[in-house]
Amino acid sequence: MLIDSFQRTIDYMRVSVTKQCNFRCQYCMPDTPDDFIDKTALPLPKMLTFIKLAIDNGIKKIRITGGEPLLRTDLCEFIGGIYAYAPHIELTLTTNAFLLEKYAQGLKDAGVNRINISLDSLKSERIKHISKRDALPQILRGIHKANELKLGIKLNMVPLKSVNEDEIVDMLEFAKTHHFGVRFIEFMENIHAKDTLKGLRANEILAHINTKYTTTLLKKECFGPAKLYTIGNGSNDKAFAFGIISPHEDDFCQSCNRIRLTSDGVICPCLYYQESVNLREAILQEDTKALQSLLEKAIKNKPEKNQWEQNMNPSLLSTRAFYYTGG
Ligand code: SAM
Ligand code: SF4
Repeated sequence: MLIDSFQRTIDYMRVSVTKQCNFRCQYCMPDTPDDFIDKTALPLPKMLTFIKLAIDNGIKKIRITGGEPLLRTDLCEFIGGIYAYAPHIELTLTTNAFLLEKYAQGLKDAGVNRINISLDSLKSERIKHISKRDALPQILRGIHKANELKLGIKLNMVPLKSVNEDEIVDMLEFAKTHHFGVRFIEFMENIHAKDTLKGLRANEILAHINTKYTTTLLKKECFGPAKLYTIGNGSNDKAFAFGIISPHEDDFCQSCNRIRLTSDGVICPCLYYQESVNLREAILQEDTKALQSLLEKAIKNKPEKNQWEQNMNPSLLSTRAFYYTGG
């Protein structure tokens, strides 16, 4: 079992398989050149060796992310390798869904339980504006295909002022109609995002929803950062639940159970802390002894609290890119 210096059990690892992406979302990597290629991404079979070791140490939940993970053409094989080694692991994937129609069946066959899909608008022009790609029809086909295959679907929306805030209720209703989960994520400031962007805070997101629905706070998501609400009075088991992730207001650190592995082989024990442990050489050499000791070091180094507050100081905005850490 992996227990850090503050007695937290670490059993969740996010694995970023590439920094590369086919979108250029304004809050993530708007200025990265279109032809950017991730030349430092590790071969996935090498990464798998480390993942198996992490599972042996107590990792029970793995989320594959990026950049855009579906750009790795051998992704399904990689996920299948994790599943074959440990079918009990909860295996999820975060994607922009642009390539989902093509890969949904392969992901399902490989053992993926659930897919988190970033969807910031239901309007074509807006998706084009936010992601710099005219992608909505293809995204919707991907969602449809995954749904047809009965893959669990959760939508992630980042509400932005004067960009998509008027679609919060539409997104909620879209999710409700199709029995998808939905999470509204506060925009997290970082130096790579377009600097004119302003995100909505949790209370503002709720205010939009409250223009049409009564909401009830349910409870904090078990081992997750979202606060869950239901539409209605909360007494009906079938009431629709949605989540809001608000790093500006909530302190997730006490119950944090996760670490992140980047595509170039670095473990980031905390999203908002510059500390990291480099496993690249050990992963490439498949040196299990070194990997074990580096994993233990990363867990030991996991800070008690993030440096989010310092990051809110404009001169100290987070330099860590979401497309690097995987979000
Ligand atoms: N490309 C995939 C996608 O977009 O789902 C996976 C990687 S993306 C970095 C993972 C998540 O990070 C997405 O849900 C995205 O909305 C979120 N994200 C990226 N930049 C963010 C920011 N500045 N604030 C809040 N969420 C952000
Ligand atoms: Fe790509 Fe995801 Fe970042 Fe958008 S949020 S640019 S889809 S990595």
